[in-house]
Amino acid sequence: MVYGFDIGGTKIAFGVFDEGFNALETSLHATPVHSYDAFLALVTGLVHQADQRLGVRGRVGMGFPGVLDAEGRILAPNVPAIHGRDLLGNLQARLQRPLFGDNDANCFLLSEYHGGAVAGSRLALGLTLGTGVGGALIHKGCLVNSGRGGCGEFGHGPISAALLARHPGLPLFDCGCGLNACLETYVSGTGLARLYRYCGGREQTGQAIIAAWQQGEAAAVGCMELYFDILASGLGALIIQLDPDVVVLGGGLGEAAWLYDELAMRLPAYLMTGMQAPQVRPPVFGGAGGVRGAALLASRPDSPFSSAV
Ligand SMILES: [Zn+2]
Repeated sequence: MVYGFDIGGTKIAFGVFDEGFNALETSLHATPVHSYDAFLALVTGLVHQADQRLGVRGRVGMGFPGVLDAEGRILAPNVPAIHGRDLLGNLQARLQRPLFGDNDANCFLLSEYHGGAVAGSRLALGLTLGTGVGGALIHKGCLVNSGRGGCGEFGHGPISAALLARHPGLPLFDCGCGLNACLETYVSGTGLARLYRYCGGREQTGQAIIAAWQQGEAAAVGCMELYFDILASGLGALIIQLDPDVVVLGGGLGEAAWLYDELAMRLPAYLMTGMQAPQVRPPVFGGAGGVRGAALLASRPDSPFSSAV
């Protein structure tokens, strides 16, 4: 039996998986926002309760929205309760078993490699378009990984000068990472809302902006044209630099079917002359991929794709 945790800023997903990585149980829990003790108690409680209920001692994997510093402490500004803490070490001690952890975008891509959208690929690129933008690479089934979770932070690369020349008034938004004009600040869900305001729209959710676009509202049409230009430009640059044979998108926006038609149509214009665009595919596991990927981390502790910490 394998347990997976997907830690988010507002919710923690917990899943129990059999050895074939089929979900047996999943549950959602509010993330303790400020109390580290409450956070540790929630995670250890879920593990111990599942152990008791199932009569096993399950292995544990965890995906988190951040990276590890040189001392193994988590840097996750969106989850203040664990930011700067030796979470994996502390949980390992409390649970009396190894704990396997990695960046949540890595978990997402690992799950899509195992029976998902990028199964059988040589080099696959994963990009999650949610509240933020996560990224990951997997080569022949091994996550490209330093063990700190930072490889693939593609959302924090800058947008291109050519893009700014095409849109001279485009603001350089400040990013939570401390830089500005990061790709994430334009193509995440919150980025889309910013672009809509820039294009003359009012404060709106991503879903409402997309509905307005589909109904032909002028501000939303302008906003989505700009959004596609920035996303295709960012993705095109990554494809030129990394040459993946397939790309999978995740996060809330990554589950929208229309996104794939738009990208297939637009992407070739952002690549080098004669370069073939790789297939860009929707995720098979959707929002459940993160927790399944976390369980996969713990599946084979000796395997090269497991970034044991
Ligand atoms: Zn950034």
